[in-house]
Amino acid sequence: MNGTGNSQAALDIAYQVHPQTNLRLHDTRGPMIIERAEGAFVYDDGGQRYLDAMSGLWCVSLGYSDQALKDAVKAQIDELPYFQLFAHRSNNPSIDLAALLIEKAPVPMSKVIFQCSGSEANDTAVKLAWYYWNSRGKPEKKKILALNRAYHGTGISSGSLTGLVNIHSQFDLPLPGFLHTRCPHHYREGLEGESEEDFVARLAQELEQLIVEEGPDTVAAFFAEPVMGTGGVVVPPEGYFAAVQKVLQRHEILLIADEVICGFGRTGEYWGSTKFGIRPDMLTCAKSLSSAYLPVSAVMVSESIFEAMVEQSDRVGVFGHGYTYGGHPVCAAAAIAAITRYEELDVVHKARAMGQLLQDGLRQFVDHPLVGEVRGVGMMAGIELVQDKATKAAFDPKRLVGGACSAFIQDRGVISRNLIDTMAFSPPLIVSESEIDMILEAVAGGLDDTLAWAKKEGLK
Ligand code: PLP
Repeated sequence: MNGTGNSQAALDIAYQVHPQTNLRLHDTRGPMIIERAEGAFVYDDGGQRYLDAMSGLWCVSLGYSDQALKDAVKAQIDELPYFQLFAHRSNNPSIDLAALLIEKAPVPMSKVIFQCSGSEANDTAVKLAWYYWNSRGKPEKKKILALNRAYHGTGISSGSLTGLVNIHSQFDLPLPGFLHTRCPHHYREGLEGESEEDFVARLAQELEQLIVEEGPDTVAAFFAEPVMGTGGVVVPPEGYFAAVQKVLQRHEILLIADEVICGFGRTGEYWGSTKFGIRPDMLTCAKSLSSAYLPVSAVMVSESIFEAMVEQSDRVGVFGHGYTYGGHPVCAAAAIAAITRYEELDVVHKARAMGQLLQDGLRQFVDHPLVGEVRGVGMMAGIELVQDKATKAAFDPKRLVGGACSAFIQDRGVISRNLIDTMAFSPPLIVSESEIDMILEAVAGGLDDTLAWAKKEGLK
């Protein structure tokens, strides 16, 4: 049951703050309360079933009822529900998970640091970039670069890395020293008639210009998602990361790949870095790391970063960073179980095959009067809705067309997420062909419903 017609909804409105929600509207609209789930489906408190085509927030890759994962969590709680890693202490699951991640890393990595969220992982990576350059005798290398539209979290530094106005606005972010450059969104940022190749060359040149203007000796690191998720499912054009990496190398700037969404098969490869030829100095991951059953994130660092950390910690006396729950044994056990299940179920291969069906199916809608572009890779896809296909003119964001479309798709039993007016899809990697068909059917009907509504509202 949606809305305010039950006591749980009333309690939710009375006592809970909802992220990325209009808090005034929540008072009248109330929550959608999900009570239980099975496979790719979730059930609300009225018993209504929905196919969760967003895997929660791009994260429940194994679906909601992986018994092996649940069993692993239960077994670990029974054996050791908590122990910490500060001051030379350790626990077995965190040791095993660190070793497993180093084995799986897309490029040679040296060590792993655990946190609980993607935001914390990126905050850690920012601090490590600063720590690294301090240890290398270049303490003036402090500025951090990221992309417009990027989403790296909502902490003070991860929120500063994020390149979205609604995350910055009224929170006094970004902090000084966090700079954003144009994102590789050919549909929105390409010039009239500009080829993808020329677009890539222009982006690399703009990045270099920014670095030179700021002073290369003041720039520490560049963060990027292999495929932007929350920024609108933006797949970089061919050659983008190769061009960016040349610029970064010329100016001795670290590259940090944010694999919080892309890691563990989402793009149809195990890592987005492998898919797009990224050779990061640090890599952050979270979400599918445990298929979201428990909160855990990791930062992997190269040998050269780790060497600097060793020197610095020796100089100071300790490596002065860490969280109470970093390396939590139950979260680590969940992550080991998730990674094991990805192997057992051949999830990456499956995601590639089902992803192709999803991508091909969604591209059928490219001629729909509301659709500007359909894009995506593997099991992440976006449909950008536009007011005018020819001019690419967007709808007035205040008219909430994407929100309406999401509601119409949901009325047809499928959960999607509107990123302003881009409809995002990121189903569990274990979905079947018939479940992909259910998504496509709901999108077809949802787009038509949205068009009829938009016409009635005088928007189209
Ligand atoms: N990085 C990326 C690419 C993300 O998509 C997200 C969350 O959606 C984050 C970082 C932040 O992760 P968390 O919400 O766990 O802090």
